[in-house]
Amino acid sequence: MMIHSCKSCGREYFEPRGVCKCGSDEFEEVQREVERGICVELKVTPSGFPERITFCLSKAGKTNAFEVE
Ligand SMILES: [Zn+2]
Repeated sequence: MMIHSCKSCGREYFEPRGVCKCGSDEFEEVQREVERGICVELKVTPSGFPERITFCLSKAGKTNAFEVE
């Protein structure tokens, strides 16, 4: 999974940010292994959606990640 790492302090974010908590606005995308957290599977979905959808709260490097399958 690609996440966003601050070039100044190294803090990592799952979603793109305009400004890091350290004040820097320079980020680079880095590849991080995903460690699966808690997943919820929807077995009944509205028409037009896949029959099953899985949502997962996971860890990617130093940040939290949200995944949909
Ligand atoms: Zn930073």
